[in-house]
Amino acid sequence: MESFFSRKRTWADGPYLHFIAALVSPEYVAYTQAHHDLLAAYGDRVGIVPPQWLHWTAQGVHHRLDEGQVERAVQSVREAAQRAVPATVTMGPVWPGPSAVTVAMYPEEPLATINALVRDAVSTVSGVRLREAGDRFWPHSTLAYFRSPDVHDADFNRQLRKIRPERVEITISRLLAVYMHQDLDLGYYTWTPIAEIPLGATAADAWAPEVVCGKAATMATYRSTPPWGDSDAECEIAVGRLVVQPPLSQSQRRYESFVGRALDDSTYFEDGEPPMPVWPDPVTVACERRSGDGVCGSTRLQVRGSWNSPAVIICEHGHSWTDTVETMREVILAAEPAQ
Ligand SMILES: [Zn+2]
Repeated sequence: MESFFSRKRTWADGPYLHFIAALVSPEYVAYTQAHHDLLAAYGDRVGIVPPQWLHWTAQGVHHRLDEGQVERAVQSVREAAQRAVPATVTMGPVWPGPSAVTVAMYPEEPLATINALVRDAVSTVSGVRLREAGDRFWPHSTLAYFRSPDVHDADFNRQLRKIRPERVEITISRLLAVYMHQDLDLGYYTWTPIAEIPLGATAADAWAPEVVCGKAATMATYRSTPPWGDSDAECEIAVGRLVVQPPLSQSQRRYESFVGRALDDSTYFEDGEPPMPVWPDPVTVACERRSGDGVCGSTRLQVRGSWNSPAVIICEHGHSWTDTVETMREVILAAEPAQ
């Protein structure tokens, strides 16, 4: 009997990159909630995982990575995941463990396959060190963490066993790449989403282009007429992943202007050369609308607009916001092969 967030399990310098499935099915949420009355009686001695933080961890990385490594890991898993297939599994029964109440996931084999695939993909990124894999992958989802050593007694076990809701079937069809946080105050894990990764190439995901915006403003992007069709024609395009290059910082703009002036005036070097700027890494666009206690985080986006109108971006949950005309043009150009 122990507390889950022991010194041994507390992360030194998280959040860390994890690949998870968010378990949002209403049937599974209801399954977990059937245990909440019992758990609530233990007050803050247990950390009950709220519906929006229920998850299965396919693979975690337990040390810090830089943004370039994260992008490469996500890309590597995204490519590998095209060869994966969605997994349909049964959730339950509930296991009272020594430090947490977990929910069994069966059959284990398809989940172990996904774990192996993600593991191999992440391992190809230089500098990533994974914890050693056990003899057998243990798929589970945690319903509550113990925050005190005196929860898991005989009485707790008996009461937990009496609950036994009907088990539920769920299908895991995509993973989320997230920065996983250990919230020691709440007593469970929360995350910031980075990207969504479909398992298997679905029809929609297979043709949806990845669009990198703002990296190279091409003539094609900024010229006033579209490469085909009517410049005022409304279109709506599914985007597999929208990536933007963050704007230059002040020091980077100074460097740019330095290079410009140095080319015009050879005496310009007398003032000394400013340091080379570090270009910011591209960022995957995720929906930032509030949802529950966190943000929506969806990266499945529809982009609507025309060659001459700003992009309206709509996430899969219907949240929308407006982006620039340039973004709309880059999305239209990227979608060209599908036209
Ligand atoms: Zn959203």
